Amino acid sequence: MRKRKTIAIGVDIGGTKVAAGLVDSRGRILFSTTTAMQARGTPAAGLAQLFRAVDVIRGRPLASQARAIGVAVPGWVDAERGVLLNATNIPCWRNFPLARNLRRHASLPVCLGNDANLAALAESRWGAGSKYSSVFYVTLGTGIGSGFVLDRRIVAGRAGMAGEGGHMTIDSSGPLCGCGKRGCIELYASGTAIARRARERLTRRGARHSSLPLLARGQVARLTTEMVSGAAAAGDVIAKEIMHGAADALAIWLGNIIDLLEPEVIVFGGGLGARMMTYRRRIRAGLATWAINPRRNRIAIVAAHFGPESALAGAAALGMTCE
Ligand SMILES: [Zn+2]
Repeated sequence: MRKRKTIAIGVDIGGTKVAAGLVDSRGRILFSTTTAMQARGTPAAGLAQLFRAVDVIRGRPLASQARAIGVAVPGWVDAERGVLLNATNIPCWRNFPLARNLRRHASLPVCLGNDANLAALAESRWGAGSKYSSVFYVTLGTGIGSGFVLDRRIVAGRAGMAGEGGHMTIDSSGPLCGCGKRGCIELYASGTAIARRARERLTRRGARHSSLPLLARGQVARLTTEMVSGAAAAGDVIAKEIMHGAADALAIWLGNIIDLLEPEVIVFGGGLGARMMTYRRRIRAGLATWAINPRRNRIAIVAAHFGPESALAGAAALGMTCE
């Protein structure tokens, strides 16, 4: 049994920002900070931003008790070697020895993991999934990520890359995705997809009475997911149509997940997760069509406890077993 540290530093690296925090063994985020990420420059420029965030944390009094750093990245990792293989939103690092670089800078052990898997771990250990032995976690944000935790352990697959559900096809004749496949769930229910679908819808007939163009100050290109979900909550017919489309797509996808894994709970996280909970009843109704598991209605669907900080907390959970 590996020794568990009481405090660890968790780092969550995204395409636009780096979040870092100090987390204790009960999953409390004692302090956190964010800096901008330089994801499209040189490898060194990206590292400089990472080091900046970590150094803010290391400057805190309790940080001297932290014995390791866990790092969450939105892409494929070789966890054993601490190498970031490829992350679409962080093109500056490809096959990059991220753990080794951070270890050298911070003089602490560093472990690396996929952000959705680590978010699932945090929700399972300390959050919305803590009462359950099998937890399927979905992060809804710019993209869609997922992770499955069974008996408090990430189901990581042969080489640590399992659980990547955001690019499961729900319509083989659907649009082409950046990943190379067609009709991925990410193209229907991510924040990016919702904003894009609303923009497309507004260019078609019957959109005259929508409040969306006004919200975007006449420039449909400026329409955001927040605007769409806000307008839907206020009763805008087109915004509701878009949000319902996303919820219906999630029902198809989750129906497959339920029939395959039969989790005890499904946790919605990420920036859009809490807002999608508004459509929980619609998603559940869709599961009557898209899941054949006779006990599908007993599977809880809940919002993430850590909200957008799940991956940071999960990175720290990884750090607590890192040496
Ligand atoms: Zn895809």
